[in-house]
Parts: sequence; C-alpha cells; structure tokens
Amino acid sequence: MFELNRSQKEIQNAARQFAKGEFDSHLALELEESREFPKKIWQKAAGLGFVGIQLPEEYSGGGLGLVEACLIAENFCRVDSTFGMALTLAGAGSEAVARFADAGLKQTILPKICEGELLSGIAFSETDYGLDLSSINTIAKPAGDTILINGKKTHVANLGTNGIYLVLCKTELNQAPPEESLSMVLVKGDQRGMSIEDSGRKFGANMTASATITFDNVTVPGSNLVGKNGKGWSQAGKLLDELKILTAAQALGTAQGALDRALGHVKQREQFNRKLGRFQITRHKIALMATKVELARLITFQAADMFDKGMADSTYISMAKMVSARTAVEVADEAIQLFGGYGYMKESQVERFFRDAKVAELCFGGLTAMKDMIGEAVIGKI
Ligand SMILES: Cc1cc2nc3c(=O)[nH]c(=O)nc-3n(C[C@H](O)[C@H](O)[C@H](O)COP(=O)(O)OP(=O)(O)OC[C@H]3O[C@@H](n4cnc5c(N)ncnc54)[C@H](O)[C@@H]3O)c2cc1C
Repeated sequence: MFELNRSQKEIQNAARQFAKGEFDSHLALELEESREFPKKIWQKAAGLGFVGIQLPEEYSGGGLGLVEACLIAENFCRVDSTFGMALTLAGAGSEAVARFADAGLKQTILPKICEGELLSGIAFSETDYGLDLSSINTIAKPAGDTILINGKKTHVANLGTNGIYLVLCKTELNQAPPEESLSMVLVKGDQRGMSIEDSGRKFGANMTASATITFDNVTVPGSNLVGKNGKGWSQAGKLLDELKILTAAQALGTAQGALDRALGHVKQREQFNRKLGRFQITRHKIALMATKVELARLITFQAADMFDKGMADSTYISMAKMVSARTAVEVADEAIQLFGGYGYMKESQVERFFRDAKVAELCFGGLTAMKDMIGEAVIGKI
C-alpha cells in the first residue's frame, strides 16, 4: 500500500501553508464573481515550485512526480477549491509537451509554464464531439514546413491570447482509424486566424475562464507538431490518464475542504440546546463523509503512485476519478445540508465547493465514460 515519504510530507505541508497564507476568502468571492484568474498568486506559486512540479528540472520543473502534483492539488483545493483548481490546471497539456515534443519545443515552452509566464490549455472537445474524440473535425494539413489548421474547439480552459493550446487535430483524412489519423499541435493564443470567444460564467470553476476557439487557416511551424504525426490518439490517452488523476486529487481536496467546514460548523452551531455535532444523525453523516474522503484519498494516491512507477492502469485511473469526483459532489452536498440555510449562501463557501466539485464529474471524461471503461475492462469479452 502506498505511503508518503518524508519529502512528500514536506511538500504536502508546504502546499497547505502556502494556500492558507494566500487564498484569502474575501478575494476568492471577488475573483469568482468577476471570473478572474489569480495571476499574482499563480506567479508566487510558480516562484516556489508549485507549478510544474512533475515536469523535468532541465525545463525549470520540479523533476518530481504525479504524487507530488496531486499533493499540491489536494491541499490547494482543500483550502479553497476555486483557487486550487485554477492554479493546478494552469499548465494543462504541458505534460504531453514534456513527454512527446522535440527538445527545441520543450525548451521554448516548458520553462515559461513552470515560471508562471504562460498559461496552457488543452483543446480537444468540439461542439459536436465531446466524449467521442475519435470523430473530431479540426483538420491540420502539412503545407511545406508549416502546418495549416482549420476547425473549432469548445470548452477550452485557460482562455487568453497570452496562452498556448495543445490542439487535437485530424491529420489523415482518408478512412484511417483514430489510432493513425489524429495528431497534437501546439498553437499560441495570438496566432493570426485564431478567434477566441469567452464562454461566459459557468456553474463552477470560475477563476478559470473557458473559451470556444475558431481556427481559420491558422499557420504554425511544422516543429509545433507534438510527438509523432498520426499518433495523437494514444498520446491523448496518456495525457488524459494523467489529467484524470490530477482531477481526482482536486476533487479529493474539494471533498476534504467541504468536510473541514462542515466539521467546524457542527461543533459550534447549537439547536435545541445542543451542538449539532451531538446529534447522532449528524455524527453518522460526518462518519460517512470522512470515510468517503479517506477512500478517495487511498485510490487517488495509489493511482498516482502506479503512474509514477510506470505501471499506469487506465481502468484503475477511471475508478479513482469516478470515486473521487462522486465523493466531492456528495460530501459538498451533505456539507450544505449540515450548514442549513447558511450553506446556501456564498459566505459559507460550501455552496462554491459544491459547484466546483461537479466539474470533476464532467472534465476529461465524465462519469458515463468512466463507467463505460471500467465496465468494459471488468466484464471483458462475452
Ligand atoms: C468546466 C469544463 C471545463 C472543460 N475543459 C476542457 C478543456 O480544457 N479542454 C477540452 O478539450 N474539453 C474541456 N471540457 C469538455 C469536457 O471534456 C466535455 O464536456 C466532456 O468530454 C463531455 O463532452 P460533451 O460535453 O460534448 O458531452 P457529450 O459527449 O455530448 O456527452 C453528454 C452525455 O451524453 C451521454 N453519453 C455520451 N456518449 C455516450 C455513450 N457512448 N454511452 C452512453 N452515454 C453517453 C453521457 O451521459 C454524457 O455525459 C470541459 C468541460 C467543462 C464542463
């Protein structure tokens, strides 16, 4: 069974202390309302090595693993789910650049991400194709030593012209299967021919803006191809495995944060001359919430540890994401109930944790997709 070593415990503690010092609860309300990315705090976090901890040291990363990235995600989201999600998704897609891109591209991009100068996002989903990425319609054609991109992507996180996007494109237009016809291309947000349209306010995760991006004859250098031409499907699968584990850690932190707040409330609030925490029904609710959080922690860190040891198992990863995301939604929901009417108000914070929790059940493969994958692996061929 997986256990944290000393240095991992230090990272866990440092992430928690940083978040407690920086994630001001009034600022959280303000930024969530104005849908603003916490740029200054992100740059501070990057300066302390919390951004890109799993990326190689030669590109200004921390040279550590996904376990360490998950410790940061859990502890940031525990202190504040909206700040936590925004900061730990700020470099989304950089993992694929580190793993598959050539050395020149890595050198140009990764240090800027790790140093808090560049946001990165993944542009996979399209209006007509979300779960079914094998059918995407964004086309990338080689044109001399450049690549020409046309198409439209939706729900792309980390909106902004100062960012960079990892775009999943079709590069083989005949009837080739997805395993041979998709590729990943890196595109800068200020590229000519790109239009970025803000998707507006979302249910949750509102410090990370989302966008619809249209590519109209966008030309990028051929060297922006990430990995091998035609191998985007398997590369995307590996990246999504990593992002699912990170999402599970964000959800775990969100669940733990909601539980912390519920605990604080039931120990202090009195009704019928008794603290809420003295009623047996409250104690049973807290017992179930705490057990669910602990189970989510075990499966999430087990999945991250297996990933770091080169033993990533997509079925196990799907189980971790499904369990952790459901735990976050259920625990935050129960926390609202324990707060009573106040739980429905912004100041209680748990209503925001609930809204943020739901993102984990939709992003990078939703609940249905996780169940499909697990069912297929467990049942096997009939
Ligand atoms: C806040 C947020 C941030 C996001 N960020 C990004 C991002 O940065 N980059 C990116 O590329 N995408 C992003 N997404 C998109 C996300 O990955 C997609 O929403 C997700 O993959 C589902 O795609 P869809 O919305 O098109 O739903 P659909 O594919 O239309 O699915 C809708 C529902 O239909 C059902 N369904 C679909 N197919 C099946 C099936 N085969 N069997 C049974 N039921 C099925 C399921 O219940 C599913 O939940 C984001 C989404 C959200 C909400």
